[in-house]
Amino acid sequence: MPNKEIILQVLRASSIFEEVNDEALSKIATFSHEVSFQPGEIIFAEGDVAEKLYILVEGEVGIEARLSTRPGSVRRGTIESVAPGGVFGWSAILETHLTMGARAISAAKAIAVDGHALHSLLAQDTELCSPVMRKLVDIVSLRLANTRITLAHILSVCSHDLKAPLAAVQSYLQVILGGFVGELNEKQREMLSRSCVRIAEFIEMIDNILDISRFEVGAVEMENLSLPEVVRDSIEMLRPLAEEKKLNFTLDLAQDVPKVKGSATRIKQVVANLVGNAIKFTPSQGEISIKLKEDDGYLRVEVADTGVGISPEELPKIFDDFYRGVAGGTEAKGTGLGLSISKKIIETHGGRIWAESPCPETGRGSKFVFALLKS
Ligand code: ADP
Repeated sequence: MPNKEIILQVLRASSIFEEVNDEALSKIATFSHEVSFQPGEIIFAEGDVAEKLYILVEGEVGIEARLSTRPGSVRRGTIESVAPGGVFGWSAILETHLTMGARAISAAKAIAVDGHALHSLLAQDTELCSPVMRKLVDIVSLRLANTRITLAHILSVCSHDLKAPLAAVQSYLQVILGGFVGELNEKQREMLSRSCVRIAEFIEMIDNILDISRFEVGAVEMENLSLPEVVRDSIEMLRPLAEEKKLNFTLDLAQDVPKVKGSATRIKQVVANLVGNAIKFTPSQGEISIKLKEDDGYLRVEVADTGVGISPEELPKIFDDFYRGVAGGTEAKGTGLGLSISKKIIETHGGRIWAESPCPETGRGSKFVFALLKS
């Protein structure tokens, strides 16, 4: 069969051109050609302008996205795999540069349609444009649906398959540390205690990852809370950590303040995150001060430290999902989710959270503030 005839056949059978008549298909065929890819070959890289729309004829192509969250580390994941008949590179006909990457998983053959030529053909011919765009919306929606399934799968693996064995190890360690299966010497006790702490941190990371998805959905149970009590409770758990690092802790909590409407568990989580970060990013002998003040219609909680501070370039990014700063990179622990979860929590409560660096009062470190409406 002549080459042009094969191209026409592939175009006709593809879902995107399903409703396009033969005359228009013949025009499209004039700027389409056959291409082959070796296994592993990059067809286009993430973020590049996709020049062509591809219809896969043979083999398999993976649609990839960058997954790494740390500067300098490159890690990609396959979001979707395209089978013969499938379309990819659709951003070629949209004016967007938001492409994911495409890589041949096995030896692959495709028909490549020139994006510019197709774009101008569609721009001239509205009758042709609307069925193609309708199909394109279907393809993009399917891609989104697949991404959601992948995300749901990752979350369910995290929540159960990863957490359950960790929780089991944690309880065995607690039994051993409790001295229920025999005496421990000092060295063994210290090593097991450290393992216990690391596992607790690991479980907390998993909880954070799960939280980020749950908070998108919202639904927090609210009650009338005494904020000074909530703040004091959350700090108590962190005091030993601060003492271990020889940090000076000062508390100045206004008493007899009006209650606020909120979830005690969630507000404790925010305070623990802010104070935990202050401990993490402040070198030994530094100072951490926690204040609760009554403002006009609000109660404000301020956590200030004399630590490493945050550069003006980083300041606008620290509340983003998975953002970890330069100082964060040197610390082994952390997912870069603590502040973004805190922001979601405070905003779900109708409040505001922000950071200043250096702390305006001391000219050092940083200050994190959240404000909640009095009830
Ligand atoms: P994580 O602590 O897991 O890295 P967070 O979302 O809690 O994630 O914080 C994001 C980033 O904000 C940190 O990596 C760090 O760069 C910066 N940051 C947060 N709190 C402080 C602080 N008290 N001092 C300096 N930098 C901070």
